[in-house]
Amino acid sequence: MLEIRIDRKCYPDRGGRPHVALSGLNLTVQRGEFVCVVGPSGCGKSTLLNIVGGLDRELDGQVTMDGAFPEDVGFMFQEPRLMPWMSVLDNVLLVAREGGASEGDAARQRERAIALLRAMELGDVLDAWPARLSGGMMRRVALARAFINEPELLLMDEPFVSLDTPTANRLREMLVEQWQRCGASVLFVTHDLREALALADRVCFLSAAPGRVVLDLAVDLPRPRDAASPAVDRLYQALLARHPELLGGLASGERGIERNGAAACGAPATGSGVRVSDTMGRTPRGAIE
Ligand code: ADP
Repeated sequence: MLEIRIDRKCYPDRGGRPHVALSGLNLTVQRGEFVCVVGPSGCGKSTLLNIVGGLDRELDGQVTMDGAFPEDVGFMFQEPRLMPWMSVLDNVLLVAREGGASEGDAARQRERAIALLRAMELGDVLDAWPARLSGGMMRRVALARAFINEPELLLMDEPFVSLDTPTANRLREMLVEQWQRCGASVLFVTHDLREALALADRVCFLSAAPGRVVLDLAVDLPRPRDAASPAVDRLYQALLARHPELLGGLASGERGIERNGAAACGAPATGSGVRVSDTMGRTPRGAIE
């Protein structure tokens, strides 16, 4: 299980006073679970991923996966970050582990990369330069690269942002297929609530800065899901009707947050596709109305 405890994460500010980006943030991800993190711009979502991915180690707090800092991690960013001078296949092989260990290992990695790229419908462009590809195809290469090592933990920072709807939907389908095949735990940051509801086992909402988890929803809709489906839309509308400030970070000034377990937040436990756990340490309805 991934356990994240960030007591405080500050950045230096120009005036000498630190900017507190995250404070009192507690979040767990079970093995193989798909968790989306949703929150307003600037609440610290990317900061959170950078910390969990080991790119930023300056914080008060601790991140562990089964007791140790997570090492077996894949990352996918907003930009595909492909090497323009390498072919599509070589871009995926670039991050492959064991690539040079032996000829047999290298051949196996190559076969795996080709199989992944074919699963991403990129079998015809294995030898192409990235510049030849559309934006959606570049993201598919980046998705294949994220899975090449079958990581225990996959961190995704708005990976499908600014794609057209059909392209983003197809990428989400591919992501879910690969996730179900490899069983990684996923922490996926997005500002798009429909996307989160279409993908996640759980959606964790962050407050406005300094970010912390204010609402933790288990989404029980059957898969496959479509972000534009009536089922996702019903859930989306019901959620925003109940918590109109949800996407703005709810009660951003609150302190002393404790996780209340499965306390109902006015939502039925089953049937609507969502269970809500309040994390505000007080009467759930009062906390958010
Ligand atoms: P989000 O991803 O939710 O939009 P970020 O994690 O990017 O938010 O940023 C959270 C806050 O921390 C923002 O106010 C941002 O300006 C600030 N911040 C992020 N990175 C740095 C940095 N390297 N130095 C100083 N401030 C930063």
